[in-house]
Amino acid sequence: MTIPVVHQSPRNPRAAIENRRTFDAAGVVCVNLTGAAGTGKTSLLEAILPRIRDKLRVGVITSDLATTRDAQRLAPLGVPVVQLLTDGACHLRADHVRHALAEMPLHELELLLIENVGSLVCQARNDLGEHARVALLSATGGDGAATKHPAAFATAALILLTKCDLLGHVEFDVEQTLNRLRRVNPYAEIVYTDTRKRVGIDRVAGWLLGYVRAHHVERTSRARASEPVPVPT
Ligand code: MG
Ligand code: ZN
Repeated sequence: MTIPVVHQSPRNPRAAIENRRTFDAAGVVCVNLTGAAGTGKTSLLEAILPRIRDKLRVGVITSDLATTRDAQRLAPLGVPVVQLLTDGACHLRADHVRHALAEMPLHELELLLIENVGSLVCQARNDLGEHARVALLSATGGDGAATKHPAAFATAALILLTKCDLLGHVEFDVEQTLNRLRRVNPYAEIVYTDTRKRVGIDRVAGWLLGYVRAHHVERTSRARASEPVPVPT
């Protein structure tokens, strides 16, 4: 199986706007998964893709500093996968994604999931042209993530507390974390997940399906509203 591998591209400050237009023109909803290294972004995709791929045509752009390991894990799941390599950069930029879109059969898709680089340092201020963000924090990553990277959680539509089976075994103040998350983002849905025991996986899959459906309903009604009103003759 050959997986397309794409490296960094020249800077393009308009790439986020161009990506969004490209997604909208192709009728694709784009969701950006962010989370520090080891929060389980790839594992989450491995658990979720088999649940949604029969209901939704989905593709994945995965990213890494230098390795193609994530793409190799995801490609056997039978969805189009492109591996983006940032060559050491700690986040994706919209122009990286734009570059990868050339390898993605966008017109065949309804949902494009982007697995961002494992870091939260500058993900929040890098608009990729996505429609929504999902932010992960894990029980093993410590309970400081919400305090250290508030913007990452403030801009998320869905927040996942991953590896929740380990809560109780690690130093992690759940109540304080939930309070912090609620303070920076009162609107996001928060879901506990554990990919090994399949906790929360159906809810996340359902959230994605619902999000794509709602997006299409909104687009269709917007398109209808802009149609000229027929004049009676
Ligand atoms: Mg990964
Ligand atoms: Zn960065």
